[in-house]
Amino acid sequence: MARHTDAVCKLCRREGEKLFLKGERCLTNKCALERHPYPPGMHGPQAQWRRKTSDYALQLREKQKARRIYGVMERQFRRYFREAEKSVGLTGPTLVILLERRLDNIVYRLGFADSRAQARQLVRHGHFEVNGHKVDIPSFRCKPGDVITVCANSRGKRYFKDRAQLLGDRPVPNWLVLDVEQMSGKVLNIPQREEIEVALQDQLIVEYYSR
Ligand code: SF4
Repeated sequence: MARHTDAVCKLCRREGEKLFLKGERCLTNKCALERHPYPPGMHGPQAQWRRKTSDYALQLREKQKARRIYGVMERQFRRYFREAEKSVGLTGPTLVILLERRLDNIVYRLGFADSRAQARQLVRHGHFEVNGHKVDIPSFRCKPGDVITVCANSRGKRYFKDRAQLLGDRPVPNWLVLDVEQMSGKVLNIPQREEIEVALQDQLIVEYYSR
Protein backbone atom coordinates (compact mmCIF):
# COMPACT_ATOMS: atom_id res chain seq x y z
CA MET A 1 0.00 0.00 0.00
CA ALA A 2 1.32 3.41 -0.92
CA ARG A 3 2.35 5.66 1.91
CA HIS A 4 4.47 8.69 2.58
CA THR A 5 8.08 7.62 3.13
CA ASP A 6 9.93 10.96 3.22
CA ALA A 7 10.84 12.67 6.53
CA VAL A 8 7.50 13.59 8.08
CA CYS A 9 8.80 16.76 9.73
CA LYS A 10 9.13 18.22 6.24
CA LEU A 11 5.36 18.01 6.00
CA CYS A 12 4.95 20.28 9.03
CA ARG A 13 7.59 22.64 7.69
CA ARG A 14 5.81 22.69 4.36
CA GLU A 15 2.52 23.60 6.03
CA GLY A 16 4.18 26.06 8.41
CA GLU A 17 2.48 24.55 11.44
CA LYS A 18 2.80 21.58 13.75
CA LEU A 19 0.85 18.55 12.55
CA PHE A 20 2.04 16.40 15.48
CA LEU A 21 3.15 13.46 13.37
CA LYS A 22 5.92 12.25 15.68
CA GLY A 23 4.30 11.86 19.05
CA GLU A 24 6.18 13.05 22.12
CA ARG A 25 9.00 14.58 20.10
CA CYS A 26 6.54 17.15 18.74
CA LEU A 27 6.13 18.53 22.26
CA THR A 28 9.84 19.01 22.86
CA ASN A 29 12.41 21.48 21.58
CA LYS A 30 13.64 18.75 19.24
CA CYS A 31 10.67 19.55 16.99
CA ALA A 32 12.08 20.26 13.54
CA LEU A 33 9.70 23.13 12.99
CA GLU A 34 11.00 24.89 16.08
CA ARG A 35 14.62 24.27 15.11
CA HIS A 36 14.13 25.14 11.44
CA PRO A 37 11.20 27.53 11.25
CA TYR A 38 11.17 27.86 7.48
CA PRO A 39 10.03 25.72 4.55
CA PRO A 40 12.13 22.68 3.58
CA GLY A 41 14.47 22.78 0.59
CA MET A 42 17.60 24.53 -0.55
CA HIS A 43 16.07 27.99 -0.50
CA GLY A 44 14.09 27.36 2.66
CA PRO A 45 16.01 29.70 4.99
CA GLN A 46 15.60 32.59 2.56
CA ALA A 47 12.04 31.75 1.63
CA GLN A 48 9.36 32.33 4.16
CA TRP A 49 6.08 30.50 3.89
CA ARG A 50 4.34 31.97 0.95
CA ARG A 51 1.06 33.03 2.39
CA LYS A 52 -1.00 32.71 -0.73
CA THR A 53 -4.34 34.23 -0.17
CA SER A 54 -6.18 32.81 -3.15
CA ASP A 55 -9.16 30.69 -2.16
CA TYR A 56 -7.76 27.76 -4.08
CA ALA A 57 -4.42 27.90 -2.23
CA LEU A 58 -6.14 27.93 1.15
CA GLN A 59 -8.42 25.03 0.20
CA LEU A 60 -5.56 22.97 -1.20
CA ARG A 61 -3.41 23.47 1.90
CA GLU A 62 -6.26 22.44 4.21
CA LYS A 63 -6.89 19.30 2.20
CA GLN A 64 -3.18 18.41 2.25
CA LYS A 65 -3.03 19.08 5.96
CA ALA A 66 -5.92 16.68 6.61
CA ARG A 67 -4.30 13.97 4.48
CA ARG A 68 -1.02 14.37 6.30
CA ILE A 69 -2.51 14.35 9.76
CA TYR A 70 -4.39 11.10 9.10
CA GLY A 71 -1.70 9.59 6.84
CA VAL A 72 -4.04 8.99 3.92
CA MET A 73 -2.99 9.06 0.28
CA GLU A 74 -4.82 11.20 -2.26
CA ARG A 75 -6.96 8.50 -3.87
CA GLN A 76 -8.16 7.10 -0.60
CA PHE A 77 -8.81 10.57 0.75
CA ARG A 78 -10.92 11.36 -2.30
CA ARG A 79 -12.89 8.17 -1.69
CA TYR A 80 -13.55 9.27 1.88
CA PHE A 81 -14.74 12.60 0.57
CA ARG A 82 -17.09 11.06 -1.99
CA GLU A 83 -18.54 8.81 0.71
CA ALA A 84 -19.02 11.76 3.05
CA GLU A 85 -20.71 13.66 0.24
CA LYS A 86 -23.25 10.87 -0.26
CA SER A 87 -23.93 10.48 3.44
CA VAL A 88 -26.69 12.17 5.36
CA GLY A 89 -25.39 15.25 7.17
CA LEU A 90 -22.83 17.91 6.46
CA THR A 91 -20.00 16.70 4.24
CA GLY A 92 -17.09 18.36 6.08
CA PRO A 93 -17.84 17.03 9.57
CA THR A 94 -18.79 13.61 8.13
CA LEU A 95 -15.43 13.43 6.35
CA VAL A 96 -13.53 14.09 9.58
CA ILE A 97 -15.68 11.55 11.44
CA LEU A 98 -14.94 8.88 8.80
CA LEU A 99 -11.22 9.54 9.15
CA GLU A 100 -11.47 9.43 12.90
CA ARG A 101 -13.09 5.99 12.82
CA ARG A 102 -10.06 4.39 11.19
CA LEU A 103 -8.53 1.65 13.31
CA ASP A 104 -5.05 3.23 13.24
CA ASN A 105 -6.48 6.51 14.51
CA ILE A 106 -8.38 4.76 17.31
CA VAL A 107 -5.24 2.84 18.36
CA TYR A 108 -3.48 6.22 18.54
CA ARG A 109 -6.34 7.90 20.40
CA LEU A 110 -6.42 5.09 22.97
CA GLY A 111 -2.74 5.71 23.68
CA PHE A 112 -1.28 2.48 22.29
CA ALA A 113 0.98 4.57 20.03
CA ASP A 114 2.57 8.00 20.12
CA SER A 115 1.53 8.92 16.61
CA ARG A 116 -0.86 7.76 13.92
CA ALA A 117 2.09 6.57 11.84
CA GLN A 118 3.27 4.36 14.68
CA ALA A 119 -0.28 3.11 15.24
CA ARG A 120 -0.54 2.28 11.58
CA GLN A 121 2.62 0.19 11.74
CA LEU A 122 1.44 -1.66 14.85
CA VAL A 123 -1.85 -2.49 13.14
CA ARG A 124 -0.07 -3.59 9.96
CA HIS A 125 2.10 -5.92 12.01
CA GLY A 126 -1.00 -7.64 13.37
CA HIS A 127 -0.81 -6.61 17.02
CA PHE A 128 -4.52 -5.81 17.38
CA GLU A 129 -7.81 -7.63 17.41
CA VAL A 130 -11.24 -6.16 16.87
CA ASN A 131 -13.99 -8.13 18.62
CA GLY A 132 -11.62 -11.07 19.02
CA HIS A 133 -10.47 -11.22 15.38
CA LYS A 134 -7.05 -10.10 14.25
CA VAL A 135 -7.28 -7.04 11.99
CA ASP A 136 -4.20 -5.73 10.20
CA ILE A 137 -5.87 -3.14 8.01
CA PRO A 138 -5.16 0.41 9.27
CA SER A 139 -8.18 1.84 7.45
CA PHE A 140 -10.57 -0.70 9.06
CA ARG A 141 -13.62 1.30 10.11
CA CYS A 142 -14.69 0.83 13.70
CA LYS A 143 -18.29 1.11 14.81
CA PRO A 144 -19.98 1.59 18.18
CA GLY A 145 -19.54 -1.47 20.38
CA ASP A 146 -16.29 -2.59 18.77
CA VAL A 147 -13.64 -3.73 21.23
CA ILE A 148 -10.03 -3.20 20.17
CA THR A 149 -7.55 -5.35 22.07
CA VAL A 150 -3.81 -5.95 21.94
CA CYS A 151 -3.39 -9.57 20.77
CA ALA A 152 -2.50 -12.02 23.54
CA ASN A 153 0.74 -12.94 21.76
CA SER A 154 1.79 -9.31 21.51
CA ARG A 155 1.24 -8.39 25.15
CA GLY A 156 4.45 -10.10 26.17
CA LYS A 157 6.49 -8.03 23.73
CA ARG A 158 8.73 -5.38 25.17
CA TYR A 159 6.95 -2.55 23.37
CA PHE A 160 3.57 -3.39 24.89
CA LYS A 161 5.04 -4.10 28.34
CA ASP A 162 6.55 -0.60 28.33
CA ARG A 163 3.41 0.85 26.82
CA ALA A 164 1.23 -0.60 29.55
CA GLN A 165 2.99 1.72 32.04
CA LEU A 166 2.05 4.76 29.97
CA LEU A 167 -1.55 3.86 29.15
CA GLY A 168 -3.98 6.34 30.60
CA ASP A 169 -1.41 9.16 30.74
CA ARG A 170 -2.90 10.79 27.68
CA PRO A 171 -6.58 11.81 27.77
CA VAL A 172 -8.86 9.47 25.83
CA PRO A 173 -11.77 11.05 23.91
CA ASN A 174 -15.26 10.68 25.40
CA TRP A 175 -16.46 8.43 22.60
CA LEU A 176 -13.84 5.80 23.50
CA VAL A 177 -13.15 3.99 26.73
CA LEU A 178 -9.80 2.50 27.67
CA ASP A 179 -9.34 -0.59 29.84
CA VAL A 180 -5.74 -0.47 30.98
CA GLU A 181 -5.88 -3.88 32.71
CA GLN A 182 -7.17 -5.64 29.62
CA MET A 183 -5.03 -3.57 27.22
CA SER A 184 -8.19 -2.84 25.26
CA GLY A 185 -10.52 -0.06 24.27
CA LYS A 186 -14.13 0.19 23.24
CA VAL A 187 -15.91 2.47 20.81
CA LEU A 188 -18.89 3.87 22.71
CA ASN A 189 -20.45 5.86 19.92
CA ILE A 190 -19.73 7.61 16.66
CA PRO A 191 -18.10 10.92 17.62
CA GLN A 192 -19.61 14.28 16.89
CA ARG A 193 -17.35 16.68 15.00
CA GLU A 194 -17.07 18.90 18.10
CA GLU A 195 -15.62 15.97 20.04
CA ILE A 196 -12.78 15.48 17.56
CA GLU A 197 -9.69 17.43 18.48
CA VAL A 198 -8.11 18.19 15.16
CA ALA A 199 -7.29 21.64 13.85
CA LEU A 200 -8.96 21.44 10.45
CA GLN A 201 -11.34 23.73 8.65
CA ASP A 202 -13.52 21.08 7.03
CA GLN A 203 -15.41 23.59 4.92
CA LEU A 204 -12.26 24.51 2.97
CA ILE A 205 -11.78 20.83 2.05
CA VAL A 206 -15.38 20.64 0.85
CA GLU A 207 -14.80 23.73 -1.26
CA TYR A 208 -11.61 22.23 -2.69
CA TYR A 209 -13.43 19.14 -4.00
CA SER A 210 -16.47 21.14 -5.10
CA ARG A 211 -14.57 23.32 -7.55
FE1 SF4 B 1 5.93 18.16 13.02
FE2 SF4 B 1 6.31 16.71 15.18
FE3 SF4 B 1 8.27 16.90 13.36
FE4 SF4 B 1 7.61 18.97 14.96
S1 SF4 B 1 8.52 17.01 15.59
S2 SF4 B 1 7.98 19.06 12.77
S3 SF4 B 1 5.37 18.75 15.09
S4 SF4 B 1 6.26 15.95 13.08
